[in-house]
Amino acid sequence: MEERPRKWRRWVRRGAVGLALLVVVLVLARGALIDWIAGYSVHRAVHAPEEGLSAEAQALVERCLAGLDPALLIDHHAHLAGTGEGSDCWVNPRLRSPRHLRDWLRFQTYRSAAGMEGGDPDIVFVDNLAGLLRAEPRPPRALLLAFDYRYGLDGARIEERSEFYVPNDYVLGIRDAHPDLFLAAASIHPYRSDAIEELERVHAAGVRVLKWLPSAQGIDMASPRCGPFFEACARLEVALLVHAGAELAVDAAEDQGLGNPLLLRHPLRAGVRVIAAHCASLGEDEDLDDPGRPLTSSFDLFVRLLEEPEWEGLLYGEISTVTQRNRFPLVLAELLRRQDLHARLINGSDWPLPGVNLLYSTRALQRGGFLSEDERTLLNEVYQWNPLLFDLCLKRTVRAPESGERFLDEVFHAKFAVEGI
Ligand SMILES: [Zn+2]
Repeated sequence: MEERPRKWRRWVRRGAVGLALLVVVLVLARGALIDWIAGYSVHRAVHAPEEGLSAEAQALVERCLAGLDPALLIDHHAHLAGTGEGSDCWVNPRLRSPRHLRDWLRFQTYRSAAGMEGGDPDIVFVDNLAGLLRAEPRPPRALLLAFDYRYGLDGARIEERSEFYVPNDYVLGIRDAHPDLFLAAASIHPYRSDAIEELERVHAAGVRVLKWLPSAQGIDMASPRCGPFFEACARLEVALLVHAGAELAVDAAEDQGLGNPLLLRHPLRAGVRVIAAHCASLGEDEDLDDPGRPLTSSFDLFVRLLEEPEWEGLLYGEISTVTQRNRFPLVLAELLRRQDLHARLINGSDWPLPGVNLLYSTRALQRGGFLSEDERTLLNEVYQWNPLLFDLCLKRTVRAPESGERFLDEVFHAKFAVEGI
Protein backbone atom coordinates (compact mmCIF):
# COMPACT_ATOMS: atom_id res chain seq x y z
CA MET A 1 0.00 0.00 0.00
CA GLU A 2 2.94 2.36 0.49
CA GLU A 3 4.20 1.83 -3.06
CA ARG A 4 1.74 4.17 -4.71
CA PRO A 5 2.38 7.49 -2.89
CA ARG A 6 6.14 6.95 -3.16
CA LYS A 7 5.89 6.38 -6.90
CA TRP A 8 3.66 9.42 -7.22
CA ARG A 9 6.12 11.56 -5.26
CA ARG A 10 8.92 10.40 -7.55
CA TRP A 11 6.95 11.52 -10.62
CA VAL A 12 6.19 14.89 -9.07
CA ARG A 13 9.89 15.35 -8.32
CA ARG A 14 10.85 14.38 -11.88
CA GLY A 15 8.21 16.71 -13.25
CA ALA A 16 9.52 19.62 -11.17
CA VAL A 17 13.12 18.97 -12.28
CA GLY A 18 11.95 18.75 -15.91
CA LEU A 19 10.04 22.00 -15.61
CA ALA A 20 13.02 23.76 -14.02
CA LEU A 21 15.26 22.50 -16.83
CA LEU A 22 12.75 23.71 -19.41
CA VAL A 23 12.72 27.17 -17.83
CA VAL A 24 16.55 27.27 -17.88
CA VAL A 25 16.60 26.26 -21.55
CA LEU A 26 13.94 28.85 -22.44
CA VAL A 27 15.78 31.61 -20.61
CA LEU A 28 19.12 30.69 -22.21
CA ALA A 29 17.55 30.49 -25.64
CA ARG A 30 15.19 33.42 -25.16
CA GLY A 31 16.25 35.20 -28.33
CA ALA A 32 15.58 32.11 -30.40
CA LEU A 33 12.36 31.43 -28.50
CA ILE A 34 10.96 34.88 -29.20
CA ASP A 35 12.07 34.66 -32.81
CA TRP A 36 10.17 31.41 -33.03
CA ILE A 37 7.04 32.75 -31.32
CA ALA A 38 6.94 36.04 -33.23
CA GLY A 39 8.26 34.43 -36.42
CA TYR A 40 10.27 37.50 -37.25
CA SER A 41 11.57 38.31 -40.71
CA VAL A 42 15.24 37.47 -41.21
CA HIS A 43 15.99 40.80 -42.98
CA ARG A 44 18.07 39.14 -45.71
CA ALA A 45 18.44 42.47 -47.51
CA VAL A 46 20.73 43.55 -44.66
CA HIS A 47 22.27 40.29 -43.51
CA ALA A 48 22.59 38.27 -46.73
CA PRO A 49 22.26 40.73 -49.63
CA GLU A 50 24.17 38.39 -51.94
CA GLU A 51 21.23 35.97 -51.90
CA GLY A 52 18.97 38.45 -53.73
CA LEU A 53 15.36 38.09 -54.75
CA SER A 54 14.17 35.71 -57.49
CA ALA A 55 13.46 37.31 -60.88
CA GLU A 56 9.71 36.77 -60.29
CA ALA A 57 9.79 38.51 -56.91
CA GLN A 58 11.82 41.38 -58.41
CA ALA A 59 9.20 41.75 -61.12
CA LEU A 60 6.47 41.92 -58.45
CA VAL A 61 8.41 44.64 -56.60
CA GLU A 62 8.81 46.62 -59.85
CA ARG A 63 5.07 46.35 -60.53
CA CYS A 64 4.39 47.59 -57.01
CA LEU A 65 6.68 50.60 -57.42
CA ALA A 66 5.43 51.56 -60.88
CA GLY A 67 3.41 54.78 -60.81
CA LEU A 68 4.99 56.05 -57.60
CA ASP A 69 7.03 59.25 -57.47
CA PRO A 70 10.18 58.49 -55.40
CA ALA A 71 10.41 62.12 -54.26
CA LEU A 72 6.98 61.82 -52.62
CA LEU A 73 7.48 58.45 -50.91
CA ILE A 74 7.36 58.92 -47.14
CA ASP A 75 6.77 56.32 -44.47
CA HIS A 76 4.80 58.52 -42.06
CA HIS A 77 5.02 56.15 -39.09
CA ALA A 78 8.40 54.63 -38.13
CA HIS A 79 9.20 54.14 -34.46
CA LEU A 80 12.61 54.58 -33.02
CA ALA A 81 13.27 52.74 -29.80
CA GLY A 82 16.23 52.35 -27.57
CA THR A 83 17.17 50.64 -24.36
CA GLY A 84 19.48 53.42 -23.20
CA GLU A 85 22.59 51.43 -24.11
CA GLY A 86 24.14 53.80 -26.62
CA SER A 87 21.46 56.55 -26.33
CA ASP A 88 19.33 58.58 -23.89
CA CYS A 89 16.29 56.45 -24.64
CA TRP A 90 14.52 54.70 -21.78
CA VAL A 91 12.37 51.61 -21.43
CA ASN A 92 10.29 50.92 -18.33
CA PRO A 93 12.22 48.22 -16.39
CA ARG A 94 8.94 46.29 -16.16
CA LEU A 95 9.23 45.53 -19.87
CA ARG A 96 12.71 44.14 -19.39
CA SER A 97 11.90 41.82 -16.50
CA PRO A 98 10.71 38.24 -17.21
CA ARG A 99 8.73 38.50 -13.96
CA HIS A 100 6.22 40.59 -15.95
CA LEU A 101 5.84 37.92 -18.56
CA ARG A 102 3.36 39.64 -20.88
CA ASP A 103 5.27 42.94 -20.99
CA TRP A 104 8.59 41.14 -21.29
CA LEU A 105 7.36 39.01 -24.21
CA ARG A 106 6.03 42.13 -25.93
CA PHE A 107 9.35 43.94 -25.56
CA GLN A 108 11.39 40.91 -26.67
CA THR A 109 9.15 40.59 -29.72
CA TYR A 110 9.80 44.18 -30.79
CA ARG A 111 13.51 43.77 -30.08
CA SER A 112 13.57 40.71 -32.30
CA ALA A 113 11.46 42.33 -35.05
CA ALA A 114 13.70 45.41 -35.11
CA GLY A 115 16.77 43.20 -35.49
CA MET A 116 18.39 44.47 -32.25
CA GLU A 117 20.85 41.58 -32.16
CA GLY A 118 24.42 41.92 -30.97
CA GLY A 119 26.41 45.10 -30.44
CA ASP A 120 24.88 48.25 -29.04
CA PRO A 121 21.12 47.60 -29.38
CA ASP A 122 20.17 51.25 -29.95
CA ILE A 123 22.78 51.71 -32.67
CA VAL A 124 21.88 48.36 -34.22
CA PHE A 125 18.20 49.44 -34.35
CA VAL A 126 19.05 52.50 -36.44
CA ASP A 127 21.63 50.72 -38.63
CA ASN A 128 19.21 47.92 -39.38
CA LEU A 129 16.36 50.28 -40.30
CA ALA A 130 18.72 52.36 -42.47
CA GLY A 131 19.97 49.13 -44.11
CA LEU A 132 16.42 48.00 -44.94
CA LEU A 133 15.53 51.39 -46.40
CA ARG A 134 18.72 51.58 -48.48
CA ALA A 135 18.07 48.07 -49.83
CA GLU A 136 14.78 49.19 -51.38
CA PRO A 137 14.95 49.88 -55.13
CA ARG A 138 13.46 53.35 -54.48
CA PRO A 139 14.08 54.11 -50.80
CA PRO A 140 11.32 56.12 -49.16
CA ARG A 141 12.19 58.52 -46.37
CA ALA A 142 10.98 57.45 -42.95
CA LEU A 143 9.42 59.86 -40.46
CA LEU A 144 11.02 58.78 -37.18
CA LEU A 145 8.86 59.24 -34.11
CA ALA A 146 10.00 60.44 -30.72
CA PHE A 147 7.90 59.33 -27.75
CA ASP A 148 7.31 61.37 -24.60
CA TYR A 149 6.70 60.16 -21.04
CA ARG A 150 3.27 60.02 -19.47
CA TYR A 151 2.36 63.15 -17.46
CA GLY A 152 -0.40 63.92 -14.95
CA LEU A 153 -2.77 66.90 -15.07
CA ASP A 154 -0.51 68.55 -12.47
CA GLY A 155 2.26 68.60 -15.08
CA ALA A 156 4.37 66.02 -13.24
CA ARG A 157 6.04 63.19 -15.15
CA ILE A 158 4.75 59.70 -14.21
CA GLU A 159 7.68 57.49 -15.01
CA GLU A 160 6.33 54.27 -13.51
CA ARG A 161 3.27 54.43 -15.79
CA SER A 162 5.26 55.31 -18.90
CA GLU A 163 6.11 52.60 -21.40
CA PHE A 164 9.19 54.00 -23.01
CA TYR A 165 10.81 57.32 -23.82
CA VAL A 166 12.50 58.43 -27.03
CA PRO A 167 13.86 61.99 -26.66
CA ASN A 168 13.20 64.59 -29.34
CA ASP A 169 16.91 65.35 -29.56
CA TYR A 170 17.72 61.70 -30.18
CA VAL A 171 15.40 61.63 -33.20
CA LEU A 172 16.75 64.96 -34.47
CA GLY A 173 20.33 63.66 -34.14
CA ILE A 174 19.57 60.55 -36.17
CA ARG A 175 17.81 62.61 -38.83
CA ASP A 176 20.87 64.85 -39.08
CA ALA A 177 23.18 61.83 -39.38
CA HIS A 178 21.12 60.34 -42.26
CA PRO A 179 19.32 63.27 -43.93
CA ASP A 180 18.72 61.23 -47.10
CA LEU A 181 16.70 58.59 -45.21
CA PHE A 182 15.10 60.11 -42.16
CA LEU A 183 12.72 62.90 -41.18
CA ALA A 184 11.96 63.75 -37.57
CA ALA A 185 8.66 63.86 -35.65
CA ALA A 186 8.80 65.03 -32.04
CA SER A 187 6.61 64.00 -29.12
CA ILE A 188 5.56 66.57 -26.50
CA HIS A 189 3.06 65.91 -23.75
CA PRO A 190 0.66 68.88 -23.67
CA TYR A 191 0.47 68.86 -19.83
CA ARG A 192 4.20 69.61 -19.52
CA SER A 193 4.87 73.05 -18.08
CA ASP A 194 7.39 73.67 -20.88
CA ALA A 195 5.20 72.13 -23.63
CA ILE A 196 4.86 75.23 -25.84
CA GLU A 197 8.50 76.22 -25.30
CA GLU A 198 9.59 72.73 -26.40
CA LEU A 199 7.22 72.91 -29.39
CA GLU A 200 8.82 76.17 -30.50
CA ARG A 201 12.29 74.71 -30.02
CA VAL A 202 11.67 71.58 -32.16
CA HIS A 203 9.76 73.65 -34.72
CA ALA A 204 12.90 75.77 -35.17
CA ALA A 205 14.78 72.50 -35.81
CA GLY A 206 12.40 71.66 -38.66
CA VAL A 207 9.79 69.50 -36.93
CA ARG A 208 6.29 69.69 -38.44
CA VAL A 209 4.68 66.57 -36.91
CA LEU A 210 4.18 65.47 -33.29
CA LYS A 211 3.39 61.92 -32.24
CA TRP A 212 0.83 61.21 -29.50
CA LEU A 213 -0.48 57.94 -28.17
CA PRO A 214 -3.19 59.31 -25.82
CA SER A 215 -4.12 56.06 -24.08
CA ALA A 216 -0.52 55.23 -23.15
CA GLN A 217 0.62 58.78 -22.49
CA GLY A 218 -2.50 59.83 -20.57
CA ILE A 219 -3.51 62.67 -22.93
CA ASP A 220 -7.16 63.73 -22.81
CA MET A 221 -7.72 65.87 -25.90
CA ALA A 222 -11.00 67.12 -24.39
CA SER A 223 -9.15 68.62 -21.41
CA PRO A 224 -8.87 72.44 -21.32
CA ARG A 225 -5.19 71.79 -20.54
CA CYS A 226 -4.70 71.05 -24.24
CA GLY A 227 -6.26 74.30 -25.53
CA PRO A 228 -3.20 76.61 -25.58
CA PHE A 229 -1.08 73.79 -26.97
CA PHE A 230 -3.51 73.21 -29.85
CA GLU A 231 -3.42 76.95 -30.62
CA ALA A 232 0.39 76.82 -30.73
CA CYS A 233 0.32 73.78 -33.06
CA ALA A 234 -2.10 75.58 -35.40
CA ARG A 235 0.01 78.79 -35.33
CA LEU A 236 3.24 76.91 -36.13
CA GLU A 237 1.54 74.52 -38.59
CA VAL A 238 2.66 71.45 -36.70
CA ALA A 239 0.45 68.40 -37.32
CA LEU A 240 -0.52 65.81 -34.72
CA LEU A 241 -0.09 62.14 -35.59
CA VAL A 242 -2.45 60.63 -33.05
CA HIS A 243 -3.10 57.00 -32.36
CA ALA A 244 -6.84 56.41 -32.64
CA GLY A 245 -8.90 53.35 -31.76
CA ALA A 246 -7.81 50.55 -29.45
CA GLU A 247 -4.13 50.16 -28.69
CA LEU A 248 -2.61 46.73 -28.27
CA ALA A 249 1.02 47.59 -28.77
CA VAL A 250 1.43 49.24 -25.38
CA ASP A 251 -0.17 48.65 -22.02
CA ALA A 252 -3.07 51.07 -22.10
CA ALA A 253 -5.98 49.14 -20.62
CA GLU A 254 -7.43 51.83 -18.33
CA ASP A 255 -7.28 54.70 -20.76
CA GLN A 256 -8.46 53.12 -24.02
CA GLY A 257 -11.27 55.71 -24.22
CA LEU A 258 -8.66 58.46 -24.77
CA GLY A 259 -8.12 57.03 -28.27
CA ASN A 260 -11.75 57.72 -29.26
CA PRO A 261 -11.55 59.16 -32.82
CA LEU A 262 -14.33 61.66 -32.05
CA LEU A 263 -11.98 63.38 -29.57
CA LEU A 264 -9.91 64.45 -32.58
CA ARG A 265 -12.52 67.18 -33.13
CA HIS A 266 -10.82 69.16 -30.34
CA PRO A 267 -7.51 69.78 -32.17
CA LEU A 268 -9.37 70.00 -35.51
CA ARG A 269 -11.61 72.81 -34.17
CA ALA A 270 -8.46 74.68 -33.17
CA GLY A 271 -7.27 74.40 -36.79
CA VAL A 272 -4.61 71.73 -36.18
CA ARG A 273 -3.85 69.24 -38.94
CA VAL A 274 -4.50 65.75 -37.56
CA ILE A 275 -3.38 62.36 -38.83
CA ALA A 276 -5.26 59.43 -37.28
CA ALA A 277 -2.80 56.55 -37.04
CA HIS A 278 -4.04 53.22 -38.41
CA CYS A 279 -7.31 54.92 -39.47
CA ALA A 280 -8.59 53.90 -35.99
CA SER A 281 -8.88 50.41 -37.42
CA LEU A 282 -9.12 48.46 -34.17
CA GLY A 283 -11.62 48.29 -31.33
CA GLU A 284 -14.76 50.10 -30.28
CA ASP A 285 -15.37 53.48 -28.68
CA GLU A 286 -18.34 55.29 -27.22
CA ASP A 287 -20.35 57.21 -29.80
CA LEU A 288 -20.12 60.59 -28.09
CA ASP A 289 -22.62 62.05 -30.59
CA ASP A 290 -25.36 59.75 -29.29
CA PRO A 291 -26.78 60.51 -25.82
CA GLY A 292 -26.89 56.75 -25.12
CA ARG A 293 -23.15 56.56 -25.93
CA PRO A 294 -23.38 53.10 -27.52
CA LEU A 295 -20.12 51.30 -28.24
CA THR A 296 -19.40 51.71 -31.93
CA SER A 297 -16.55 50.52 -34.15
CA SER A 298 -13.71 53.04 -33.81
CA PHE A 299 -13.17 52.82 -37.56
CA ASP A 300 -16.79 53.79 -38.27
CA LEU A 301 -16.42 56.81 -35.96
CA PHE A 302 -13.26 57.81 -37.82
CA VAL A 303 -14.98 57.49 -41.22
CA ARG A 304 -17.82 59.68 -39.88
CA LEU A 305 -15.23 62.32 -39.03
CA LEU A 306 -13.56 62.06 -42.45
CA GLU A 307 -16.94 62.63 -44.08
CA GLU A 308 -17.56 65.86 -42.13
CA PRO A 309 -16.80 68.57 -44.72
CA GLU A 310 -15.28 71.04 -42.26
CA TRP A 311 -12.20 68.85 -41.72
CA GLU A 312 -11.29 68.59 -45.40
CA GLY A 313 -7.61 69.51 -45.75
CA LEU A 314 -7.11 69.04 -41.98
CA LEU A 315 -7.93 65.41 -41.18
CA TYR A 316 -6.03 62.46 -42.67
CA GLY A 317 -5.92 58.73 -42.01
CA GLU A 318 -2.67 56.80 -41.92
CA ILE A 319 -2.88 53.19 -43.13
CA SER A 320 -0.18 51.31 -41.18
CA THR A 321 -1.32 47.93 -39.79
CA VAL A 322 -4.54 47.75 -41.88
CA THR A 323 -3.20 44.67 -43.66
CA GLN A 324 -2.51 42.88 -40.36
CA ARG A 325 -4.53 39.78 -39.60
CA ASN A 326 -6.69 41.44 -36.92
CA ARG A 327 -7.83 44.35 -39.15
CA PHE A 328 -9.38 42.60 -42.12
CA PRO A 329 -11.55 41.67 -43.89
CA LEU A 330 -13.88 44.51 -42.84
CA VAL A 331 -11.61 47.54 -42.44
CA LEU A 332 -9.21 46.68 -45.25
CA ALA A 333 -12.02 45.91 -47.72
CA GLU A 334 -13.83 49.14 -46.81
CA LEU A 335 -10.67 51.27 -47.17
CA LEU A 336 -9.91 49.72 -50.57
CA ARG A 337 -13.46 50.27 -51.81
CA ARG A 338 -13.73 53.87 -50.60
CA GLN A 339 -11.57 55.41 -53.32
CA ASP A 340 -13.42 58.68 -52.69
CA LEU A 341 -11.43 58.89 -49.44
CA HIS A 342 -8.02 57.97 -50.85
CA ALA A 343 -6.96 61.62 -51.21
CA ARG A 344 -7.22 61.75 -47.39
CA LEU A 345 -5.07 58.63 -46.72
CA ILE A 346 -1.31 58.54 -46.20
CA ASN A 347 1.07 55.61 -45.85
CA GLY A 348 3.06 54.43 -42.85
CA SER A 349 4.60 51.15 -41.75
CA ASP A 350 4.53 51.39 -37.93
CA TRP A 351 8.05 49.95 -37.99
CA PRO A 352 9.11 47.61 -36.31
CA LEU A 353 5.69 45.92 -36.45
CA PRO A 354 6.21 44.71 -40.07
CA GLY A 355 9.05 42.61 -38.63
CA VAL A 356 6.60 40.59 -36.50
CA ASN A 357 5.55 37.81 -38.85
CA LEU A 358 2.82 36.67 -36.46
CA LEU A 359 0.83 39.82 -37.24
CA TYR A 360 0.52 39.00 -40.95
CA SER A 361 -1.20 36.15 -42.73
CA THR A 362 -0.83 36.25 -46.49
CA ARG A 363 -2.65 32.90 -46.52
CA ALA A 364 -5.73 34.46 -44.90
CA LEU A 365 -5.51 37.42 -47.32
CA GLN A 366 -5.45 35.00 -50.23
CA ARG A 367 -8.40 33.04 -48.83
CA GLY A 368 -10.28 36.29 -48.31
CA GLY A 369 -9.82 37.21 -51.99
CA PHE A 370 -7.35 40.09 -51.40
CA LEU A 371 -4.39 38.32 -53.09
CA SER A 372 -3.81 35.59 -55.68
CA GLU A 373 -1.83 32.49 -54.79
CA ASP A 374 1.14 33.61 -56.93
CA GLU A 375 1.15 37.04 -55.34
CA ARG A 376 1.12 35.43 -51.92
CA THR A 377 4.15 33.22 -52.70
CA LEU A 378 6.16 36.16 -54.04
CA LEU A 379 5.18 38.47 -51.18
CA ASN A 380 6.30 35.82 -48.69
CA GLU A 381 9.70 35.80 -50.41
CA VAL A 382 9.90 39.61 -50.22
CA TYR A 383 9.01 39.39 -46.51
CA GLN A 384 12.09 37.37 -45.64
CA TRP A 385 14.19 39.72 -47.77
CA ASN A 386 12.93 43.04 -46.46
CA PRO A 387 9.81 43.37 -44.26
CA LEU A 388 9.58 47.13 -44.92
CA LEU A 389 9.48 46.60 -48.67
CA PHE A 390 6.97 43.79 -48.06
CA ASP A 391 4.73 46.20 -46.15
CA LEU A 392 4.65 48.58 -49.12
CA CYS A 393 4.29 45.83 -51.74
CA LEU A 394 1.47 44.15 -49.81
CA LYS A 395 -0.51 47.40 -49.66
CA ARG A 396 0.16 47.99 -53.37
CA THR A 397 -1.05 44.47 -54.23
CA VAL A 398 -4.20 43.91 -52.15
CA ARG A 399 -7.53 44.46 -53.88
CA ALA A 400 -11.07 44.52 -52.58
CA PRO A 401 -12.58 41.04 -52.82
CA GLU A 402 -15.05 40.81 -55.71
CA SER A 403 -15.10 44.51 -56.68
CA GLY A 404 -11.30 44.67 -57.15
CA GLU A 405 -10.45 48.26 -56.12
CA ARG A 406 -6.87 48.90 -54.99
CA PHE A 407 -5.29 51.70 -53.02
CA LEU A 408 -4.80 54.53 -55.53
CA ASP A 409 -1.23 55.79 -56.16
CA GLU A 410 -2.04 59.01 -54.30
CA VAL A 411 -2.37 57.08 -50.99
CA PHE A 412 1.39 56.48 -51.12
CA HIS A 413 2.35 60.05 -51.93
CA ALA A 414 3.07 62.71 -49.29
CA LYS A 415 0.23 65.25 -49.15
CA PHE A 416 1.88 67.99 -47.07
CA ALA A 417 5.32 68.88 -45.77
CA VAL A 418 6.28 66.86 -42.68
CA GLU A 419 9.52 68.79 -42.17
CA GLY A 420 10.78 72.27 -42.95
CA ILE A 421 13.06 74.97 -41.64
ZN1 LIG B 1 3.00 53.12 -33.89
